[in-house]
Amino acid sequence: MTGKDKVKTRASSTGFIKAGLLVLLICVSLGIAMVYIQQNTYRTQVSHEFHQQHLSVGEYLNSLLVSYGQGIMSLAWTVSDADEDTIQARISTTMELTALEHIYYINTDGHLMMDGKLTDRSSVTMFEELSDINFPRNNAYIGLAPASVRLYTERRIVIAAPVRTADLGIRGIVFSTVDMRKVFASDAFSYQTQKGQCLVVSETGEIVETSAGAGVVKIDHESFQLGLLEHSDGKGLSKRALQDYNYDVTSRKSGFINLTTADGYRLQVSYAPLTGCDRLVFVSCFQDNLVDARIKPLIFTSVLTCSIITVLMIASLFLVWATAKRSNLTVEKLAYEDPVTGGKNLNYFREFAINTMIANRELPLIIYRFDIANFRYINESYGHHRADMVLKSCIDNFTKLFSERELCVRMDADQFLALLINDSLLDKKMDEFNNAVNADARGNQIKYPIRFKYGIYPVKKHDHDIDVMIDHANVAKKTIKSDAKDNKATYSERFVDDMRKVDHIENSMQKALAENEFKVYLQTKWDIHENKVTGAEALVRWVRPNGSVLGPEQFVPIFENNGFIEQLDFYTLESVCMRMREMMDEGIEVVPVSVNQSRLLLHSPDYVENVEKVLKQYNIPAGAIELEITESVFDTEKEEMIAIIRRLKLLGVRLSMDDFGTGYSSLNMLTEVPFDVIKIDGGYFARSAIDDPERMVLTKIVEIINGLGMEVVCEGVENEAQVEYLKTTGCRTVQGYYFSIPVPEPEFITRYLQK
Ligand code: C2E
Ligand code: MG
Ligand code: MG
Repeated sequence: MTGKDKVKTRASSTGFIKAGLLVLLICVSLGIAMVYIQQNTYRTQVSHEFHQQHLSVGEYLNSLLVSYGQGIMSLAWTVSDADEDTIQARISTTMELTALEHIYYINTDGHLMMDGKLTDRSSVTMFEELSDINFPRNNAYIGLAPASVRLYTERRIVIAAPVRTADLGIRGIVFSTVDMRKVFASDAFSYQTQKGQCLVVSETGEIVETSAGAGVVKIDHESFQLGLLEHSDGKGLSKRALQDYNYDVTSRKSGFINLTTADGYRLQVSYAPLTGCDRLVFVSCFQDNLVDARIKPLIFTSVLTCSIITVLMIASLFLVWATAKRSNLTVEKLAYEDPVTGGKNLNYFREFAINTMIANRELPLIIYRFDIANFRYINESYGHHRADMVLKSCIDNFTKLFSERELCVRMDADQFLALLINDSLLDKKMDEFNNAVNADARGNQIKYPIRFKYGIYPVKKHDHDIDVMIDHANVAKKTIKSDAKDNKATYSERFVDDMRKVDHIENSMQKALAENEFKVYLQTKWDIHENKVTGAEALVRWVRPNGSVLGPEQFVPIFENNGFIEQLDFYTLESVCMRMREMMDEGIEVVPVSVNQSRLLLHSPDYVENVEKVLKQYNIPAGAIELEITESVFDTEKEEMIAIIRRLKLLGVRLSMDDFGTGYSSLNMLTEVPFDVIKIDGGYFARSAIDDPERMVLTKIVEIINGLGMEVVCEGVENEAQVEYLKTTGCRTVQGYYFSIPVPEPEFITRYLQK
């Protein structure tokens, strides 16, 4: 997964969370709106219900007062010509019928009769005030009591009807007053009075009668409007509401208004004109918390539902967020981390390198592309786990030793890539890095030394393509030969051509092996005393389909680098064995043939078993095959290598140490390793032929080798003088162009074996 993919994934999960939050916000808003709408709907519903209740109670009150009025009116008609006893009787009957508490009769003289009996009270003023009333034509007057009546009865509502003479003059007035407190205390008003207050108010706003106030409702003021204002919190009663009230009342309409009290309660004021009465209005004030009490359970259910939905949504969003975060981390890990070392990977390196180069244009930077020489051997000999620890140790030690502006990542297998600051400390730090990794490996019981091969590319332009720079470093690395002493190569333009050749060889090697393009040439080993062929060395040549012949120096180092040499060496060994078996079967007398074995081959896990298999397959007699092993294999893991040599020895093959004298040869090796032959390198021999001290050393070495019971073969003998000189050193067998160049196998057979 690339960085871009990762960014896309992260963006899509962020988008998803944003969409989720938006949905949550919409849900919460809808929930709040729903609760609000529901609350208002219920409130309006309850307000209407209450108002309906008020209207029906108002009608009841009206009909009660009207029935009182009818009683008083009837009485007035019947008492016109009656004597005192008759009046008394009729009043008593009316009182029984109407349940009026008291009925008064007052005549023009101001004589007042209560419940049919004359009182000692005489009030001309009361008569005058009562007779001033504008009595309705066929109904009694029901309305505000004149002041004198109020003073006498302490009641503010009066029901009065004139007792007329035959010529329609007023003889007297029958009247009664209503104790509204008692009326309001009756069951008919209990709904209103339990949570509020009932009032009778005059059209002008004068409070006529009130029930006892319940709850927070207690309007106790001369003027009803002022009483309301006094009750309100100053904001809760709008001017508009009061205007509505005044308008409705003067137009004899019913309605209701709402206000908030100073204590924060809501009041509903329902009003309806008392139609049978003179300018009286019936008012109910109702504490709105009853509404709340009714709608609270519903609102609670709604709020609870909304809250549960919200919590569930938040929980799911959190879950989505957490999952997205986790998968982002996983994606990031996959995109940028190397699972083996726990460090970063190539994707990350690219981004890091580009950013570092852009941000630090003046910083001298250098790219190291490196791997571990013969890592396959470490893997196979010490197991994947320990080999992985080596890889991890590389990243860990790098992180410890280098700054945060530098980075090392594993690309794959044992391939590493580092971006470093090219300053004076670099070489020292690289040495420390090398030592630290080797120390860790030793700590993990890995005896094989960790040797890095570094391909180096110094960054010239910070805005160059990073992949090209990495490739250049790789080209440089590929130029390092597997046995080269110097393990560093810095990129140069000429490497590109070399790399093309390497690529060409690598691309065609497998096919060439399958199509037998690799041919075994043989070079004689010559006994200079008896002057005869005593053996041969198999030397491989790559004969291309076009007839051109490549020598081993052109491809062996490449195969040693890429591991293909193992296949080639086995192919050579098998070819030699096969040919030898054919010749033996044909009755041809064969000579021992030596086959070169690369260093890598010896590190291959099933090496000894494979050699044994080939020898057995072709039934090769003991001593007919000699394996040439270059002395440098003992540079690392000497004990393990000696053990392998010993096992080979048991198979009955001859063993020779090739290239003796090229490395740091130790004479101890001669006693430690059971070789049959020591091959003294041509170069060494050439030097000793001209140089006296070297000549002496060679003579002594040959003497020692012979003394230890081993055979000496001197390579690179090119002329007779050399042969004569070698004769004086005690060396018997030689190999060189003087006797024969390496020739194709058939030619060798005809020349030296078929006589
Ligand atoms: P080597 O095993 O030391 O083989 C001897 C080399 O010396 C051969 O080179 C041979 O041709 C060359 N030589 C022989 N006589 C003379 C002489 O008088 N003068 C000079 N200057 N050179 C002489 P060649 O065949 O080019 O092989 C080079 C190396 O390639 C071999 O060195 C050996 O290490 C390697 N090699 C050849 N064939 C194989 C193979 O099948 N497997 C492996 N692993 N390595 C091989
Ligand atoms: Mg050799
Ligand atoms: Mg040699």
